Amino acid sequence: MARVTFRADRCKGCGLCTTVCPKKIVIMDTETINEKGFHPATVIEMEKCIGCAMCATICPDCVIKVER
Ligand code: SF4
Ligand code: SF4
Repeated sequence: MARVTFRADRCKGCGLCTTVCPKKIVIMDTETINEKGFHPATVIEMEKCIGCAMCATICPDCVIKVER
């Protein structure tokens, strides 16, 4: 199973990563506010991740790391 991790404090909440995930499992965590004052992106249902790394590729701030 692929594993996706976020350096959440670097996230600027732009939401780009949520638009490209083919499994629609990347969401903005509206329950959390990071150091910059944004809701950071996170993954729900990690078991559905196919490790395509689309989310990591599109992130302008290198927040996301995908390991397969
Ligand atoms: S690696 Fe692919 S499937 Fe997994 S969370 Fe990122 S965009 Fe979605
Ligand atoms: S693309 Fe990067 S900066 Fe934008 S919401 Fe996703 S993780 Fe945060």
